[in-house]
Amino acid sequence: MSETIETDVAIIGAGPCGLFAVFECGMLKMRAVVIDTLEEIGGQCAALYPEKPIYDIPAHPQIAGADLIARLAEQADPFAPRYLLNQRVDALVQAEDGFTLTTSTGNQVRAKAVIIAAGAGAFGPNRPPLEGLPGYEASGAVRYMVSRREEFRGKRVVIAGGGDSAVDWALSLKDIAAKVVVVHRRPKFRAAPETAAQLEAAAARGEIEMAIPYQLHGLEGDGARLDAVILATLKGEEKRVEADHLLAFFGLSMELGPIAEWGLGLDHKHVTIDPATCQTNILGIHAIGDMAVYPGKLKLILQGFSEAAMAAHAIHPRVFPGEALHFEYSTSKGVPVA
Ligand SMILES: Cc1cc2nc3c(=O)[nH]c(=O)nc-3n(C[C@H](O)[C@H](O)[C@H](O)COP(=O)(O)OP(=O)(O)OC[C@H]3O[C@@H](n4cnc5c(N)ncnc54)[C@H](O)[C@@H]3O)c2cc1C
Repeated sequence: MSETIETDVAIIGAGPCGLFAVFECGMLKMRAVVIDTLEEIGGQCAALYPEKPIYDIPAHPQIAGADLIARLAEQADPFAPRYLLNQRVDALVQAEDGFTLTTSTGNQVRAKAVIIAAGAGAFGPNRPPLEGLPGYEASGAVRYMVSRREEFRGKRVVIAGGGDSAVDWALSLKDIAAKVVVVHRRPKFRAAPETAAQLEAAAARGEIEMAIPYQLHGLEGDGARLDAVILATLKGEEKRVEADHLLAFFGLSMELGPIAEWGLGLDHKHVTIDPATCQTNILGIHAIGDMAVYPGKLKLILQGFSEAAMAAHAIHPRVFPGEALHFEYSTSKGVPVA
């Protein structure tokens, strides 16, 4: 059910910069709601390279994308952020004492200020063109990401795609699923050669069934519960595979989407800001991270962290008008106990 949430700062995007903005706002006693189109927090780090090491996060000689996000979430936790996931901010309008954001699921967030930490825009999975798809997505029968592997224990799973995600999840789920069928339109996989070889070996042992050269053709079920996935070759030969879940890994696409329509100053699909405050051309709306652009901008996480601190300080007078802000170190101030 959709709801209306009041907060001090609405943060659009739960990537590393949005998450750190929760911390920076929290340190200045400003509450935050974070909205993201993805099912999970973490932006590019979680969606594109969770296992890859990052080498240029200060004080972390090496940290995997997923671990960085876990640490940022832990750092934000004491400030009890509200995460609205799986929904895109579609509308942002000026209200009497701030802004009203409306999400694709109908939730409304009323905030005194907004931080846009939207990276390269909203992430969305590339969806297969199958009839009745939304109903099966809503029930969780069709998915584009796996957050809890255990949910697939004892289930019949069809995995579509030829990249790393498809291969990695086929190898992982074969140990707990009742059955795993991999659908790909050609014999060659784009995954890392080592894991692609492991997939072939698992298929040869009969642990994974391969449906090649097939493509997804249809879904069979009651509109929510899936019974089978229908596959077809380019020549139109069909094959019915009984399944409880379809995991489609056709990559993610990013699009600026509705942000382009909010009257913000833009430069090549990025939001222009004053680098001293991260203020956009609309008073009260700030932009940080990959989405923000100004002379000398580096698209690096560490630069986004610094922008989060600057935006939070610039926003403080809007949230607490007339209240003096005394600059303090975190060492003197401490953080609340989560
Ligand atoms: C393979 C790879 C390796 C990288 N390695 C490094 C590295 O070593 N060091 C480094 O510093 N950087 C690296 N980067 C870049 C780094 O990941 C980005 O700079 C960083 O993720 C930007 O963070 P962000 O919070 O600004 O945005 P993102 O991480 O892009 O997150 C933005 C989030 O906003 C959401 N969003 C957008 N629009 C909306 C909307 N309208 N409503 C709701 N949600 C919305 C998106 O879904 C997304 O989750 C790498 C990137 C890639 C792809």
